[in-house]
Amino acid sequence: MVVGDFPIETDTIVVGSGPGGYVAAIRAAQLGQKVTIVEKETLGGVCLNVGCIPSKALITAGHRFHQAQHSDDMGIVAENVKVQFDKVQEWKAGVVKKLTGGVEGLLKGNKVEIVRGEAYLTDANTLRVMDDNSAQTYKFNNLILATGSRPIEIPSFKFSKRVLDSTGALSLTDIPEKLIVIGGGYIGTELGTAYANLGSKVTILEGADDILSGFEKQMTTIVKKGLKKKGVDVITKAMAKGVEENDNGVVVKYEVKGEEQSLEADYVLVTVGRRPNTDDIGLEEVGIEMTDRGVIKIDKQCRTNVSNIYAIGDIVDGPPLAHKASYEGKIAAEAISGEPAEIDYLGIPAVCFTDPELATVGYSEAEAKEEGIEVVAAKFPFAANGRALALNSSEGFLKLVTRKEDGLVIGAQIVGAGASDMIAELGLAIESGMTAEDIAMTIHAHPTLGEISMEAAEVAIGSPIHIVK
Ligand SMILES: Cc1cc2nc3c(=O)[nH]c(=O)nc-3n(C[C@H](O)[C@H](O)[C@H](O)COP(=O)(O)OP(=O)(O)OC[C@H]3O[C@@H](n4cnc5c(N)ncnc54)[C@H](O)[C@@H]3O)c2cc1C
Repeated sequence: MVVGDFPIETDTIVVGSGPGGYVAAIRAAQLGQKVTIVEKETLGGVCLNVGCIPSKALITAGHRFHQAQHSDDMGIVAENVKVQFDKVQEWKAGVVKKLTGGVEGLLKGNKVEIVRGEAYLTDANTLRVMDDNSAQTYKFNNLILATGSRPIEIPSFKFSKRVLDSTGALSLTDIPEKLIVIGGGYIGTELGTAYANLGSKVTILEGADDILSGFEKQMTTIVKKGLKKKGVDVITKAMAKGVEENDNGVVVKYEVKGEEQSLEADYVLVTVGRRPNTDDIGLEEVGIEMTDRGVIKIDKQCRTNVSNIYAIGDIVDGPPLAHKASYEGKIAAEAISGEPAEIDYLGIPAVCFTDPELATVGYSEAEAKEEGIEVVAAKFPFAANGRALALNSSEGFLKLVTRKEDGLVIGAQIVGAGASDMIAELGLAIESGMTAEDIAMTIHAHPTLGEISMEAAEVAIGSPIHIVK
Protein backbone atom coordinates (compact mmCIF):
# COMPACT_ATOMS: atom_id res chain seq x y z
CA MET A 1 0.00 0.00 0.00
CA VAL A 2 1.15 3.56 -0.72
CA VAL A 3 2.17 5.41 2.45
CA GLY A 4 1.21 9.04 2.75
CA ASP A 5 -1.67 11.43 2.89
CA PHE A 6 -2.10 12.41 -0.74
CA PRO A 7 -5.54 11.03 -1.55
CA ILE A 8 -5.79 8.58 -4.42
CA GLU A 9 -8.79 9.28 -6.65
CA THR A 10 -10.93 6.62 -8.27
CA ASP A 11 -14.46 6.24 -9.71
CA THR A 12 -15.75 3.37 -7.63
CA ILE A 13 -14.42 1.67 -4.51
CA VAL A 14 -15.73 -1.70 -3.37
CA VAL A 15 -15.13 -2.67 0.26
CA GLY A 16 -14.95 -6.44 0.76
CA SER A 17 -14.05 -9.08 -1.81
CA GLY A 18 -16.62 -11.79 -1.07
CA PRO A 19 -19.06 -12.98 -3.75
CA GLY A 20 -20.83 -9.62 -3.48
CA GLY A 21 -17.77 -7.37 -3.64
CA TYR A 22 -15.60 -9.07 -6.25
CA VAL A 23 -18.54 -9.55 -8.63
CA ALA A 24 -19.57 -5.89 -8.20
CA ALA A 25 -15.98 -4.77 -8.88
CA ILE A 26 -15.69 -6.85 -12.05
CA ARG A 27 -19.06 -5.71 -13.40
CA ALA A 28 -18.28 -2.03 -12.61
CA ALA A 29 -14.93 -2.35 -14.42
CA GLN A 30 -16.63 -4.04 -17.40
CA LEU A 31 -18.93 -1.03 -17.56
CA GLY A 32 -15.97 1.33 -17.88
CA GLN A 33 -15.43 2.47 -14.31
CA LYS A 34 -12.01 2.84 -12.69
CA VAL A 35 -12.41 0.44 -9.76
CA THR A 36 -10.52 -0.24 -6.54
CA ILE A 37 -11.38 -3.15 -4.23
CA VAL A 38 -10.29 -3.17 -0.59
CA GLU A 39 -9.94 -6.40 1.37
CA LYS A 40 -8.64 -6.79 4.91
CA GLU A 41 -8.32 -10.58 4.86
CA THR A 42 -8.22 -13.04 1.95
CA LEU A 43 -9.76 -12.40 -1.46
CA GLY A 44 -13.02 -14.31 -1.93
CA GLY A 45 -14.60 -13.47 1.44
CA VAL A 46 -16.41 -15.94 3.67
CA CYS A 47 -17.88 -17.88 0.77
CA LEU A 48 -14.65 -19.00 -0.85
CA ASN A 49 -12.42 -19.19 2.24
CA VAL A 50 -14.54 -20.39 5.16
CA GLY A 51 -18.09 -20.82 3.84
CA CYS A 52 -19.78 -22.27 0.77
CA ILE A 53 -16.76 -23.83 -0.90
CA PRO A 54 -14.85 -25.51 1.96
CA SER A 55 -18.12 -26.72 3.49
CA LYS A 56 -19.18 -28.29 0.20
CA ALA A 57 -15.74 -29.91 -0.15
CA LEU A 58 -16.11 -31.46 3.32
CA ILE A 59 -19.67 -32.55 2.49
CA THR A 60 -18.41 -34.26 -0.68
CA ALA A 61 -15.67 -36.07 1.23
CA GLY A 62 -18.20 -37.25 3.82
CA HIS A 63 -20.64 -38.34 1.13
CA ARG A 64 -18.00 -40.36 -0.76
CA PHE A 65 -16.91 -42.12 2.43
CA HIS A 66 -20.47 -42.86 3.45
CA GLN A 67 -21.38 -44.18 0.01
CA ALA A 68 -18.31 -46.40 -0.10
CA GLN A 69 -19.43 -47.97 3.17
CA HIS A 70 -23.14 -48.20 2.41
CA SER A 71 -23.54 -49.52 -1.12
CA ASP A 72 -23.88 -53.21 -0.35
CA ASP A 73 -27.50 -53.20 -1.58
CA MET A 74 -25.98 -52.47 -5.01
CA GLY A 75 -23.48 -55.29 -4.61
CA ILE A 76 -20.59 -52.99 -3.76
CA VAL A 77 -18.81 -54.18 -0.66
CA ALA A 78 -15.78 -52.14 0.29
CA GLU A 79 -13.71 -53.30 3.19
CA ASN A 80 -11.31 -51.17 5.19
CA VAL A 81 -12.42 -47.89 3.65
CA LYS A 82 -10.49 -45.22 5.53
CA VAL A 83 -10.54 -41.45 5.78
CA GLN A 84 -7.15 -39.76 5.84
CA PHE A 85 -8.45 -36.55 7.28
CA ASP A 86 -5.23 -34.60 6.82
CA LYS A 87 -5.47 -35.38 3.08
CA VAL A 88 -9.13 -34.36 3.02
CA GLN A 89 -8.14 -31.03 4.56
CA GLU A 90 -5.24 -30.65 2.13
CA TRP A 91 -7.52 -31.33 -0.86
CA LYS A 92 -10.14 -28.89 0.52
CA ALA A 93 -7.45 -26.20 0.92
CA GLY A 94 -6.39 -26.82 -2.69
CA VAL A 95 -9.94 -26.27 -3.94
CA VAL A 96 -10.16 -23.01 -1.96
CA LYS A 97 -6.75 -21.84 -3.22
CA LYS A 98 -7.68 -22.46 -6.85
CA LEU A 99 -10.80 -20.36 -6.48
CA THR A 100 -9.29 -17.48 -4.49
CA GLY A 101 -6.39 -17.37 -6.95
CA GLY A 102 -8.98 -17.33 -9.73
CA VAL A 103 -10.70 -14.32 -8.16
CA GLU A 104 -7.40 -12.44 -7.99
CA GLY A 105 -6.76 -13.26 -11.66
CA LEU A 106 -10.23 -12.10 -12.67
CA LEU A 107 -9.90 -8.82 -10.77
CA LYS A 108 -6.50 -8.11 -12.29
CA GLY A 109 -7.71 -9.19 -15.73
CA ASN A 110 -10.47 -6.60 -15.47
CA LYS A 111 -7.98 -3.94 -14.31
CA VAL A 112 -9.45 -3.66 -10.84
CA GLU A 113 -6.88 -2.30 -8.37
CA ILE A 114 -6.59 -4.58 -5.34
CA VAL A 115 -5.77 -2.84 -2.05
CA ARG A 116 -5.05 -4.79 1.14
CA GLY A 117 -6.18 -3.24 4.40
CA GLU A 118 -9.15 -2.27 6.52
CA ALA A 119 -11.43 0.42 5.14
CA TYR A 120 -13.17 3.10 7.18
CA LEU A 121 -15.52 5.76 5.81
CA THR A 122 -14.67 9.29 6.92
CA ASP A 123 -17.14 11.19 4.76
CA ALA A 124 -19.43 10.50 1.80
CA ASN A 125 -16.52 10.67 -0.66
CA THR A 126 -13.56 9.57 1.43
CA LEU A 127 -12.26 6.27 2.72
CA ARG A 128 -9.25 5.57 4.93
CA VAL A 129 -7.55 2.26 4.35
CA MET A 130 -5.27 1.04 7.10
CA ASP A 131 -2.99 -1.92 7.47
CA ASP A 132 -0.54 -2.72 10.27
CA ASN A 133 2.01 -0.15 9.12
CA SER A 134 0.30 2.54 7.12
CA ALA A 135 -2.83 4.40 6.13
CA GLN A 136 -3.96 5.81 2.82
CA THR A 137 -6.85 8.10 1.91
CA TYR A 138 -9.00 7.35 -1.14
CA LYS A 139 -11.47 9.71 -2.80
CA PHE A 140 -14.34 8.11 -4.66
CA ASN A 141 -17.41 9.07 -6.65
CA ASN A 142 -19.27 5.92 -5.68
CA LEU A 143 -18.79 3.28 -3.01
CA ILE A 144 -20.13 -0.27 -2.75
CA LEU A 145 -20.07 -1.73 0.74
CA ALA A 146 -19.84 -5.53 0.75
CA THR A 147 -18.35 -6.27 4.17
CA GLY A 148 -20.31 -9.48 4.80
CA SER A 149 -21.02 -11.12 8.14
CA ARG A 150 -19.49 -13.14 10.97
CA PRO A 151 -20.79 -15.87 13.29
CA ILE A 152 -22.86 -14.79 16.28
CA GLU A 153 -21.17 -15.67 19.55
CA ILE A 154 -23.44 -16.33 22.51
CA PRO A 155 -22.08 -15.23 25.90
CA SER A 156 -22.42 -18.68 27.50
CA PHE A 157 -20.59 -20.29 24.55
CA LYS A 158 -17.46 -18.20 23.96
CA PHE A 159 -15.56 -19.54 20.96
CA SER A 160 -12.44 -21.46 22.01
CA LYS A 161 -10.42 -24.55 21.13
CA ARG A 162 -13.43 -26.82 21.66
CA VAL A 163 -16.32 -24.39 21.29
CA LEU A 164 -16.26 -23.86 17.56
CA ASP A 165 -17.77 -21.51 15.04
CA SER A 166 -18.24 -22.73 11.45
CA THR A 167 -14.68 -21.70 10.55
CA GLY A 168 -13.28 -23.77 13.44
CA ALA A 169 -15.43 -26.76 12.48
CA LEU A 170 -14.15 -26.60 8.91
CA SER A 171 -10.52 -26.62 9.96
CA LEU A 172 -10.40 -29.47 12.50
CA THR A 173 -7.37 -31.72 12.20
CA ASP A 174 -9.16 -34.86 13.42
CA ILE A 175 -12.65 -36.18 12.93
CA PRO A 176 -14.41 -35.79 16.29
CA GLU A 177 -15.74 -38.96 17.85
CA LYS A 178 -18.65 -36.95 19.20
CA LEU A 179 -19.84 -33.57 18.00
CA ILE A 180 -22.65 -31.43 19.38
CA VAL A 181 -24.16 -28.84 17.03
CA ILE A 182 -26.11 -25.98 18.56
CA GLY A 183 -28.51 -24.60 15.97
CA GLY A 184 -30.26 -26.66 13.30
CA GLY A 185 -30.15 -24.04 10.56
CA TYR A 186 -28.61 -24.82 7.21
CA ILE A 187 -24.96 -24.32 8.28
CA GLY A 188 -25.28 -26.50 11.39
CA THR A 189 -27.22 -29.22 9.63
CA GLU A 190 -24.86 -29.30 6.64
CA LEU A 191 -21.72 -29.53 8.80
CA GLY A 192 -23.43 -32.00 11.15
CA THR A 193 -24.25 -34.19 8.13
CA ALA A 194 -20.69 -33.96 6.82
CA TYR A 195 -19.17 -35.09 10.13
CA ALA A 196 -21.83 -37.80 10.62
CA ASN A 197 -20.90 -39.17 7.18
CA LEU A 198 -17.24 -39.07 8.21
CA GLY A 199 -18.05 -41.17 11.27
CA SER A 200 -18.78 -38.72 14.13
CA LYS A 201 -21.65 -39.28 16.52
CA VAL A 202 -23.54 -36.02 16.00
CA THR A 203 -26.25 -34.45 18.14
CA ILE A 204 -28.09 -31.35 16.93
CA LEU A 205 -29.67 -29.18 19.62
CA GLU A 206 -32.32 -26.84 18.23
CA GLY A 207 -34.26 -24.31 20.31
CA ALA A 208 -37.27 -24.15 17.99
CA ASP A 209 -39.68 -27.00 17.37
CA ASP A 210 -37.95 -28.07 14.16
CA ILE A 211 -34.68 -27.81 12.26
CA LEU A 212 -34.26 -26.08 8.86
CA SER A 213 -37.16 -23.75 9.49
CA GLY A 214 -36.93 -22.07 6.06
CA PHE A 215 -38.06 -25.23 4.28
CA GLU A 216 -41.46 -26.95 4.21
CA LYS A 217 -42.07 -29.66 6.81
CA GLN A 218 -42.80 -32.28 4.13
CA MET A 219 -39.28 -31.68 2.86
CA THR A 220 -37.41 -31.57 6.16
CA THR A 221 -39.13 -34.78 7.30
CA ILE A 222 -37.21 -36.60 4.56
CA VAL A 223 -33.92 -34.96 5.61
CA LYS A 224 -34.56 -35.87 9.25
CA LYS A 225 -35.16 -39.48 8.21
CA GLY A 226 -31.76 -39.38 6.47
CA LEU A 227 -30.10 -37.90 9.57
CA LYS A 228 -31.61 -40.61 11.76
CA LYS A 229 -30.24 -43.31 9.45
CA LYS A 230 -26.77 -41.81 9.94
CA GLY A 231 -27.24 -41.97 13.71
CA VAL A 232 -27.67 -38.19 14.16
CA ASP A 233 -29.81 -37.27 17.16
CA VAL A 234 -31.94 -34.18 16.60
CA ILE A 235 -33.22 -32.70 19.86
CA THR A 236 -35.71 -29.88 19.32
CA LYS A 237 -37.05 -27.30 21.81
CA ALA A 238 -33.65 -27.68 23.48
CA MET A 239 -32.26 -24.50 25.00
CA ALA A 240 -28.47 -24.59 25.25
CA LYS A 241 -27.47 -23.20 28.66
CA GLY A 242 -23.72 -23.43 28.97
CA VAL A 243 -20.57 -25.39 28.39
CA GLU A 244 -17.72 -26.73 30.50
CA GLU A 245 -14.52 -27.31 28.60
CA ASN A 246 -11.58 -29.50 29.59
CA ASP A 247 -8.46 -30.80 27.82
CA ASN A 248 -10.34 -33.66 26.18
CA GLY A 249 -13.74 -32.30 25.43
CA VAL A 250 -16.84 -30.40 26.45
CA VAL A 251 -19.93 -30.95 28.53
CA VAL A 252 -22.90 -29.03 27.18
CA LYS A 253 -25.82 -28.23 29.44
CA TYR A 254 -29.23 -27.73 27.88
CA GLU A 255 -32.86 -27.65 28.92
CA VAL A 256 -35.75 -29.57 27.39
CA LYS A 257 -39.30 -29.27 28.75
CA GLY A 258 -37.97 -27.53 31.86
CA GLU A 259 -35.50 -30.30 32.64
CA GLU A 260 -31.77 -29.74 32.61
CA GLN A 261 -29.74 -32.28 30.64
CA SER A 262 -26.08 -32.58 29.78
CA LEU A 263 -24.13 -34.15 26.97
CA GLU A 264 -20.43 -34.84 26.47
CA ALA A 265 -18.56 -34.46 23.23
CA ASP A 266 -15.14 -33.70 21.80
CA TYR A 267 -16.35 -30.39 20.39
CA VAL A 268 -19.43 -28.22 20.27
CA LEU A 269 -20.19 -26.27 17.11
CA VAL A 270 -22.30 -23.16 17.64
CA THR A 271 -24.22 -22.04 14.55
CA VAL A 272 -26.99 -19.78 15.77
CA GLY A 273 -26.82 -17.18 13.01
CA ARG A 274 -24.56 -14.53 11.56
CA ARG A 275 -24.09 -10.85 12.40
CA PRO A 276 -23.60 -8.25 9.63
CA ASN A 277 -20.21 -6.50 9.59
CA THR A 278 -21.64 -3.00 9.85
CA ASP A 279 -19.81 -1.81 12.96
CA ASP A 280 -16.37 -0.21 12.67
CA ILE A 281 -16.68 0.87 9.04
CA GLY A 282 -17.73 4.46 9.66
CA LEU A 283 -21.42 4.23 8.72
CA GLU A 284 -22.28 6.73 11.45
CA GLU A 285 -19.78 9.26 10.01
CA VAL A 286 -21.99 9.62 6.94
CA GLY A 287 -25.38 8.89 8.52
CA ILE A 288 -26.17 5.62 6.74
CA GLU A 289 -29.66 4.46 7.72
CA MET A 290 -30.23 0.99 9.14
CA THR A 291 -33.40 -1.15 9.20
CA ASP A 292 -35.07 -2.39 12.39
CA ARG A 293 -33.25 -5.67 11.82
CA GLY A 294 -29.88 -3.95 12.09
CA VAL A 295 -28.91 -4.25 8.42
CA ILE A 296 -28.27 -1.39 5.99
CA LYS A 297 -31.38 0.03 4.37
CA ILE A 298 -31.24 0.07 0.55
CA ASP A 299 -33.54 0.84 -2.35
CA LYS A 300 -34.25 -1.35 -5.40
CA GLN A 301 -30.85 -0.46 -6.85
CA CYS A 302 -28.95 -1.29 -3.64
CA ARG A 303 -28.46 2.45 -2.94
CA THR A 304 -28.38 3.59 0.69
CA ASN A 305 -29.91 6.87 1.87
CA VAL A 306 -26.56 8.48 0.89
CA SER A 307 -26.98 8.56 -2.87
CA ASN A 308 -23.43 7.58 -3.94
CA ILE A 309 -23.04 4.77 -1.38
CA TYR A 310 -24.41 1.30 -2.13
CA ALA A 311 -24.61 -1.81 0.06
CA ILE A 312 -24.94 -5.47 -0.93
CA GLY A 313 -24.80 -9.02 0.40
CA ASP A 314 -25.02 -10.11 4.02
CA ILE A 315 -25.14 -6.50 5.29
CA VAL A 316 -28.55 -5.85 3.69
CA ASP A 317 -31.94 -7.51 4.01
CA GLY A 318 -32.79 -10.87 2.47
CA PRO A 319 -31.30 -14.33 2.76
CA PRO A 320 -27.57 -14.32 3.56
CA LEU A 321 -26.52 -16.28 0.49
CA ALA A 322 -23.57 -15.96 -1.85
CA HIS A 323 -25.57 -15.84 -5.10
CA LYS A 324 -27.84 -13.17 -3.65
CA ALA A 325 -24.75 -11.08 -2.79
CA SER A 326 -23.39 -11.51 -6.35
CA TYR A 327 -26.75 -10.62 -7.88
CA GLU A 328 -26.93 -7.43 -5.81
CA GLY A 329 -23.30 -6.67 -6.73
CA LYS A 330 -24.22 -6.65 -10.43
CA ILE A 331 -27.29 -4.49 -9.79
CA ALA A 332 -25.26 -1.92 -7.79
CA ALA A 333 -22.50 -1.76 -10.42
CA GLU A 334 -25.05 -1.31 -13.19
CA ALA A 335 -26.99 1.32 -11.22
CA ILE A 336 -23.76 3.31 -10.75
CA SER A 337 -23.23 3.16 -14.51
CA GLY A 338 -26.70 4.59 -15.07
CA GLU A 339 -28.37 1.31 -16.12
CA PRO A 340 -32.01 0.78 -15.10
CA ALA A 341 -31.27 -2.48 -13.20
CA GLU A 342 -33.47 -3.25 -10.17
CA ILE A 343 -33.59 -6.09 -7.67
CA ASP A 344 -36.33 -8.70 -7.86
CA TYR A 345 -35.80 -11.47 -5.33
CA LEU A 346 -38.51 -13.86 -6.57
CA GLY A 347 -36.11 -15.95 -8.63
CA ILE A 348 -33.45 -16.32 -5.90
CA PRO A 349 -33.06 -19.96 -4.95
CA ALA A 350 -32.03 -21.27 -1.53
CA VAL A 351 -30.31 -24.60 -1.22
CA CYS A 352 -29.30 -26.78 1.69
CA PHE A 353 -26.67 -29.42 0.95
CA THR A 354 -28.00 -32.05 3.32
CA ASP A 355 -28.54 -35.69 2.44
CA PRO A 356 -30.77 -35.56 0.42
CA GLU A 357 -30.50 -31.95 -0.67
CA LEU A 358 -33.18 -29.29 -0.25
CA ALA A 359 -33.87 -26.48 -2.69
CA THR A 360 -36.54 -23.86 -3.08
CA VAL A 361 -37.20 -20.94 -5.42
CA GLY A 362 -40.04 -18.44 -5.65
CA TYR A 363 -43.24 -19.05 -3.73
CA SER A 364 -44.04 -22.10 -1.67
CA GLU A 365 -47.66 -23.24 -1.74
CA ALA A 366 -48.26 -21.73 1.71
CA GLU A 367 -46.61 -18.38 0.86
CA ALA A 368 -48.70 -18.06 -2.30
CA LYS A 369 -51.87 -18.79 -0.33
CA GLU A 370 -50.88 -16.19 2.28
CA GLU A 371 -50.70 -13.62 -0.51
CA GLY A 372 -54.11 -14.68 -1.80
CA ILE A 373 -52.76 -16.29 -4.97
CA GLU A 374 -54.75 -19.35 -6.04
CA VAL A 375 -52.30 -22.05 -6.99
CA VAL A 376 -51.94 -25.57 -8.29
CA ALA A 377 -49.20 -27.42 -6.40
CA ALA A 378 -48.10 -30.41 -8.47
CA LYS A 379 -45.85 -33.04 -6.94
CA PHE A 380 -43.77 -35.73 -8.60
CA PRO A 381 -41.81 -38.33 -6.61
CA PHE A 382 -38.17 -39.21 -7.26
CA ALA A 383 -39.21 -42.87 -6.81
CA ALA A 384 -41.00 -42.72 -10.20
CA ASN A 385 -37.92 -41.45 -12.05
CA GLY A 386 -35.61 -43.93 -13.76
CA ARG A 387 -32.40 -41.98 -13.20
CA ALA A 388 -33.12 -41.50 -9.47
CA LEU A 389 -33.60 -45.25 -9.11
CA ALA A 390 -30.44 -45.99 -11.09
CA LEU A 391 -28.56 -43.59 -8.81
CA ASN A 392 -29.94 -45.50 -5.83
CA SER A 393 -31.34 -42.16 -4.60
CA SER A 394 -35.09 -42.43 -4.89
CA GLU A 395 -36.06 -40.48 -1.75
CA GLY A 396 -37.75 -37.15 -2.33
CA PHE A 397 -40.11 -35.15 -4.51
CA LEU A 398 -40.39 -32.04 -6.62
CA LYS A 399 -43.29 -29.67 -6.10
CA LEU A 400 -44.14 -27.14 -8.78
CA VAL A 401 -46.25 -24.17 -7.72
CA THR A 402 -48.22 -22.59 -10.57
CA ARG A 403 -50.82 -19.85 -10.67
CA LYS A 404 -54.24 -21.47 -11.10
CA GLU A 405 -55.65 -18.93 -13.56
CA ASP A 406 -52.96 -19.30 -16.22
CA GLY A 407 -50.44 -21.96 -15.19
CA LEU A 408 -47.61 -19.42 -14.65
CA VAL A 409 -44.73 -20.98 -12.72
CA ILE A 410 -44.28 -18.99 -9.49
CA GLY A 411 -42.31 -21.39 -7.32
CA ALA A 412 -40.77 -24.81 -6.84
CA GLN A 413 -39.44 -26.91 -3.99
CA ILE A 414 -37.26 -29.99 -4.30
CA VAL A 415 -36.00 -32.51 -1.80
CA GLY A 416 -33.82 -35.19 -3.30
CA ALA A 417 -30.44 -35.98 -4.82
CA GLY A 418 -29.28 -33.25 -7.18
CA ALA A 419 -31.89 -30.73 -5.96
CA SER A 420 -29.19 -28.02 -5.85
CA ASP A 421 -28.66 -28.28 -9.61
CA MET A 422 -32.25 -29.05 -10.60
CA ILE A 423 -33.60 -25.85 -9.03
CA ALA A 424 -31.84 -23.74 -11.70
CA GLU A 425 -34.30 -24.78 -14.42
CA LEU A 426 -37.22 -23.71 -12.27
CA GLY A 427 -35.61 -20.36 -11.41
CA LEU A 428 -35.19 -19.80 -15.14
CA ALA A 429 -38.85 -20.72 -15.68
CA ILE A 430 -39.89 -18.08 -13.12
CA GLU A 431 -37.51 -15.44 -14.54
CA SER A 432 -38.71 -15.99 -18.09
CA GLY A 433 -42.42 -16.14 -17.26
CA MET A 434 -42.93 -19.77 -18.30
CA THR A 435 -46.07 -21.77 -17.70
CA ALA A 436 -46.31 -25.41 -16.58
CA GLU A 437 -47.19 -26.27 -20.17
CA ASP A 438 -43.92 -24.72 -21.41
CA ILE A 439 -41.95 -26.99 -19.07
CA ALA A 440 -44.09 -30.02 -19.90
CA MET A 441 -43.50 -29.45 -23.63
CA THR A 442 -39.72 -28.98 -23.22
CA ILE A 443 -37.96 -32.17 -24.23
CA HIS A 444 -35.84 -33.38 -21.31
CA ALA A 445 -33.13 -35.97 -21.91
CA HIS A 446 -33.82 -39.47 -20.62
CA PRO A 447 -32.97 -40.82 -18.13
CA THR A 448 -32.24 -37.69 -16.08
CA LEU A 449 -33.32 -36.11 -12.83
CA GLY A 450 -34.34 -33.12 -14.97
CA GLU A 451 -37.28 -35.15 -16.22
CA ILE A 452 -38.80 -34.80 -12.74
CA SER A 453 -39.51 -31.09 -13.49
CA MET A 454 -41.21 -32.06 -16.75
CA GLU A 455 -43.26 -34.76 -15.03
CA ALA A 456 -44.36 -32.36 -12.25
CA ALA A 457 -45.37 -29.86 -14.93
CA GLU A 458 -47.43 -32.60 -16.58
CA VAL A 459 -49.11 -33.25 -13.24
CA ALA A 460 -49.85 -29.51 -13.02
CA ILE A 461 -51.62 -29.49 -16.40
CA GLY A 462 -53.47 -32.71 -15.62
CA SER A 463 -51.73 -35.13 -17.99
CA PRO A 464 -49.01 -37.04 -16.13
CA ILE A 465 -47.50 -40.01 -17.97
CA HIS A 466 -45.53 -41.76 -15.27
CA ILE A 467 -47.94 -41.61 -12.35
CA VAL A 468 -51.60 -42.45 -12.38
CA LYS A 469 -53.82 -39.41 -12.20
C1 LIG B 1 -20.06 -22.48 6.66
C2 LIG B 1 -20.83 -21.63 5.68
C3 LIG B 1 -21.39 -22.23 4.57
C4 LIG B 1 -22.07 -21.46 3.62
N1 LIG B 1 -22.61 -22.09 2.54
C5 LIG B 1 -23.27 -21.36 1.63
C6 LIG B 1 -23.80 -21.99 0.46
O1 LIG B 1 -23.68 -23.19 0.27
N2 LIG B 1 -24.44 -21.20 -0.43
C7 LIG B 1 -24.60 -19.85 -0.26
O2 LIG B 1 -25.19 -19.20 -1.11
N3 LIG B 1 -24.11 -19.24 0.85
C8 LIG B 1 -23.45 -19.96 1.78
N4 LIG B 1 -22.93 -19.33 2.88
C9 LIG B 1 -23.17 -17.89 3.05
C10 LIG B 1 -22.21 -17.07 2.18
O3 LIG B 1 -20.88 -17.43 2.49
C11 LIG B 1 -22.44 -15.59 2.41
O4 LIG B 1 -23.80 -15.28 2.20
C12 LIG B 1 -21.59 -14.78 1.45
O5 LIG B 1 -20.22 -15.04 1.62
C13 LIG B 1 -21.86 -13.29 1.64
O6 LIG B 1 -21.09 -12.58 0.71
P1 LIG B 1 -20.66 -11.07 0.95
O7 LIG B 1 -19.97 -10.67 -0.30
O8 LIG B 1 -21.83 -10.31 1.42
O9 LIG B 1 -19.64 -11.11 2.16
P2 LIG B 1 -18.43 -12.03 2.62
O10 LIG B 1 -18.28 -13.24 1.81
O11 LIG B 1 -18.64 -12.19 4.09
O12 LIG B 1 -17.17 -11.12 2.35
C14 LIG B 1 -16.97 -9.90 3.01
C15 LIG B 1 -15.51 -9.52 2.90
O13 LIG B 1 -15.36 -8.18 3.37
C16 LIG B 1 -14.14 -8.06 4.08
N5 LIG B 1 -14.24 -6.90 4.95
C17 LIG B 1 -15.10 -6.72 5.98
N6 LIG B 1 -14.93 -5.49 6.53
C18 LIG B 1 -13.93 -4.90 5.85
C19 LIG B 1 -13.29 -3.64 5.93
N7 LIG B 1 -13.65 -2.73 6.84
N8 LIG B 1 -12.28 -3.37 5.07
C20 LIG B 1 -11.90 -4.28 4.13
N9 LIG B 1 -12.47 -5.49 4.00
C21 LIG B 1 -13.48 -5.79 4.84
C22 LIG B 1 -14.06 -9.39 4.82
O14 LIG B 1 -12.72 -9.67 5.19
C23 LIG B 1 -14.60 -10.37 3.77
O15 LIG B 1 -13.54 -10.91 3.00
C24 LIG B 1 -22.21 -20.06 3.82
C25 LIG B 1 -21.63 -19.45 4.94
C26 LIG B 1 -20.95 -20.22 5.85
C27 LIG B 1 -20.34 -19.55 7.04
